[in-house]
Amino acid sequence: MATFIVLLGPPGVGKGTQAKILADVKKFAHISSGDLFRENIKNQTELGKHAKSYIDKGQLVPDDVTIGMIRERLSRPDCELGAILDGFPRTPVQADALENMLAEFNGQINTVPYITAPEAVLVGRISGRWTCRSNGHIYHRVFNPPKQDGICDIDGSDLYQREDDKVETVTTRIRVYLEQTIPLVEYYRKSGKLVEVDGTQSVEQVSKELCSAVIK
Ligand code: ADP
Ligand code: AMP
Repeated sequence: MATFIVLLGPPGVGKGTQAKILADVKKFAHISSGDLFRENIKNQTELGKHAKSYIDKGQLVPDDVTIGMIRERLSRPDCELGAILDGFPRTPVQADALENMLAEFNGQINTVPYITAPEAVLVGRISGRWTCRSNGHIYHRVFNPPKQDGICDIDGSDLYQREDDKVETVTTRIRVYLEQTIPLVEYYRKSGKLVEVDGTQSVEQVSKELCSAVIK
């Protein structure tokens, strides 16, 4: 049976950073809904054009579009053993849809690590985030700087600041998280799968706690 890890937490808390580490350790696919949208935007697909209007404003892309995109991604062969879901689900409707998809793909949720940090920490992390243009590798101006300014250590492509990481949009994204995604904390707590992790710790400490929470 395929095993899925759902990373829950506010924007900027470190989900993408941790998902990449965990994916390496567990040899799982890393599915980031934000990365999938950004790839579609870069390739100027119809989905990308539609999603961009919401993303640039810091709002959530409508559930039906997001669920369709994830469904297609989960059906690919690299998810046969499972995957780490980063940024999906983000609404109760998406969480219900995930349950249905898992039933269909013979999968189950192993753990839901819930990474937390106060708003001031999130704002500091998001405003200093630099993202690799080719593959979405994640850096921070202060906390995780690249060896060479503006260049990804891993693939040499240029680093850019995401449009939705500008200060004006960040406050909207945090508000949207509090309004639409926070209900999932209780949803998964009730299922007994939620494990809280203090996201203010170092990247290494957070990943240590995550690994011991999910690797049985
Ligand atoms: P999310 O996917 O939750 O939005 P990211 O993984 O992209 O978050 O991290 C947001 C920013 O914070 C990035 O610039 C990243 O380098 C930095 N970051 C992630 N985890 C930590 C940490 N534990 N300590 C300091 N900075 C971190
Ligand atoms: P992220 O890369 O996770 O920070 O996501 C960037 C943006 O993509 C979000 O602010 C939303 O606009 C959109 N997005 C990502 N995941 C979802 C989702 N599960 N549901 C709706 N919109 C999403």
